[in-house]
Amino acid sequence: MVSDGARGLLGAYELGRTLGEGNFGKVKQARHRGSGGQFAVKIMERARVLSQRADEQICREIATLKLLAHPNVVRLHEVAASKTKIYMVLELVNGGELLDRIAASEGKLPEQEARRLFQQLVDGVSYCHEKGVCHRDLKLENVLVDRKGNIKISDFGLSALPQHLGNDGLLHTTCGSPNYIAPEVLQNRGYDGSLSDIWSCGVILYVMLVGHLPFDDRNIVVLYQKIFKGDAQIPEWLSPGARNLLRRILEPYPAERIAMAEIKAHPWFQEHYVPVLPPY
Ligand code: ADP
Ligand code: MG
Repeated sequence: MVSDGARGLLGAYELGRTLGEGNFGKVKQARHRGSGGQFAVKIMERARVLSQRADEQICREIATLKLLAHPNVVRLHEVAASKTKIYMVLELVNGGELLDRIAASEGKLPEQEARRLFQQLVDGVSYCHEKGVCHRDLKLENVLVDRKGNIKISDFGLSALPQHLGNDGLLHTTCGSPNYIAPEVLQNRGYDGSLSDIWSCGVILYVMLVGHLPFDDRNIVVLYQKIFKGDAQIPEWLSPGARNLLRRILEPYPAERIAMAEIKAHPWFQEHYVPVLPPY
């Protein structure tokens, strides 16, 4: 049985090719019959969602996206549910994942291009932080690129809102993807989600510039030891500005890590920077 909401939604869109596979289902391209507009529909199987006790994760993703409207954050247009599925109609981002873009460019990006994408990533992430949202799963697979080459941050399933803070004002759930996780998140003592997002942005910048992950190992214990030490090898051939910024972001001690406002004021970041200004 399909609820009225989902039946209406399914009638309004014509589903097309599969754009990607997620944990809970598929993401398909869809054409709005009325306007002809193209969208992406994230279709989640409720059985899979329930079996993984992930209902809350999906509600969180929807609640978070409803708060956000920024050119570098994927936009949510509408939501509907049937007994078996949940549908999220999203802005279509048709240039693939940042991961694929780097792979297609001989494994790393020219510094100018990496900087331009990093500027957009930082604009989007700092906007989320201003709205009280921490993403908590920033990685190359969750950063999409549109046809014009602009970044759209997506997949807010692990995001945290102010109501998720503990009495100490910190977050306590250890989550994220191993290679991108900040050392303080692994420590189980509470962490500031905006500082750990900054760390993940640093991992993304490192891969764009250098062509491989700053911290990696097949053995997860060894990987986490490397993250704790924070001794990423920052190649000599990078420009001094890029090296300085990477070192300041990949600072294991969060209180000493560069803050968002300082990143935006950093000389390497500032070069050719055209900030997007509200209204978006
Ligand atoms: P999950 O939460 O299960 O990881 P995602 O939201 O990351 O699901 O979606 C899975 C994949 O589907 C993405 O990695 C991407 O390739 C594709 N995708 C997701 N949202 C969009 C979108 N708005 N436009 C185009 N492709 C998308
Ligand atoms: Mg994802």
